[in-house]
Amino acid sequence: MLQSSELKLVNPEASEPSWQKELSDAIRSTEELDSLHWAFLRAPDFRSHPALNGKYRVLVPRAYLALIDPHDPADPIARMAFPGAAELDESGKMDPIGDLERKAAPRLTHRYTDRVLLHTTNLCPMYCRFCFRKNLMNEADENLYGGGFDEAFAYIRSQPQLREVILTGGDPWMLSDAKLGALLHQILAIPSIERIRFHTRMPVTLPTRVTKGLLALLESLVAAGKRVYVVTHFNHPKEITAASRLACKEITSRGVRLLNQAVLLKGVNNSSSTLRELFLGLEKMGVLPYYLHHGDTVAGAGHFRTSVEESLAIYRELRGTLSGYALPELVVDLPGGFGKVPLAELEKVGPGKYRHGKSPEAYFD
Ligand code: SF4
Repeated sequence: MLQSSELKLVNPEASEPSWQKELSDAIRSTEELDSLHWAFLRAPDFRSHPALNGKYRVLVPRAYLALIDPHDPADPIARMAFPGAAELDESGKMDPIGDLERKAAPRLTHRYTDRVLLHTTNLCPMYCRFCFRKNLMNEADENLYGGGFDEAFAYIRSQPQLREVILTGGDPWMLSDAKLGALLHQILAIPSIERIRFHTRMPVTLPTRVTKGLLALLESLVAAGKRVYVVTHFNHPKEITAASRLACKEITSRGVRLLNQAVLLKGVNNSSSTLRELFLGLEKMGVLPYYLHHGDTVAGAGHFRTSVEESLAIYRELRGTLSGYALPELVVDLPGGFGKVPLAELEKVGPGKYRHGKSPEAYFD
C-alpha cells in the first residue's frame, strides 16, 4: 500500500497547461457575449444586464459555448451558461441548503455523521446560472471559503467517526495539481478516512482538465487503498460529447467510481424524454446516474425551479422506462441544512420525521 508521501504528482503545472489556457480564453463578461452577435442574445430573456456583471460572475469556456445552437432561442446550454435579467429577482435564499448553518470549522460543512464537505475554492470553470451556491461563492468576505485549511483538518482529525471527505467548492479541480496534491496528502494522513469524493463539473464544462497529472493523483489515491468517487454534473444530453466521454473513460479506467447528479431545471431538462436520453447516455459511458435534484430555493435562480408536482410527474413518467441503475433517485435538500430526502417523501408529512400538516411547497418558504 502506498504511503501518503508517495502521492503521484506528474510534472504538476508545466506539462499540460491547455486547460488553464482555455480558462484564460473563456468568455467572462456580458460585453463579450454581445460581441458574438447571436440574435437571441439580444432577446429580452438573455439581454445582458449591467448589474449582473457585478452581482454574479460570468465565465463560459469556449468549448462549452460551442455546444450552443445560436439559431435556437431556447437553447438549453445557453440557458445554463448566459446571465439574464431574471437573476435580478432575489426571492429565495442565499444559502438554501444550510452550508453555513452546518459549518463546523473554516471551509468545512458537517451535515451527516460520517462525512464532511471540504470547500476547497470558490472558483469554477463556468458559473452556472442555476448554481445553489451562486450567492455564497460571490461573497466578498468568503464565509464558506475563508480561512486556512489547518483548522479544517484539525476538526477532521478530532472526529474519529468520519469516514469520508468530500472535496467541493466551487469546483475542487480548479486547484492546480500541486495544491490539490497537498490537500490530498493531508487527507491520506488521517487513517479513519476511507473514502475520498470529488464534486466537480469539469468533465462537462472543461474536460481537458482531466490531465495525466490529475489522473495520476486519482490513481495514487486508489493505490493507497482509498475508495475514490467522482460525482459529476451532467444536466442535458447535449453536454455528452466526445471530449466528456473520453474524460469519463480515463477517470473510470483508474479504478475511480463515477456518479452523476443532475438538477431538474425549467427550460433545460424538465421533460421525461430529455432526462431519459441523458440517463441512458450516462449509463452507456459508465457514469451511474445517482441523484436527480429538485431545484433549491436559490436567490437569483428561481426561474429554473419546477414545482414539486411537476418534478414528481416527470419522475413518474421516467419510472418503468429505465433500468433501476439508470434511474437516479429524485431528491431535495431540505432548507436549514437537514440534508437530502426523496421528494416523494414530502407528501407523506407526519409527526416526527417532517413537520406535520405542511404542503410540500411549504417546506421551501
Ligand atoms: S460548476 Fe458547480 S459549483 Fe460551480 S457554478 Fe456550476 S454548479 Fe455551481
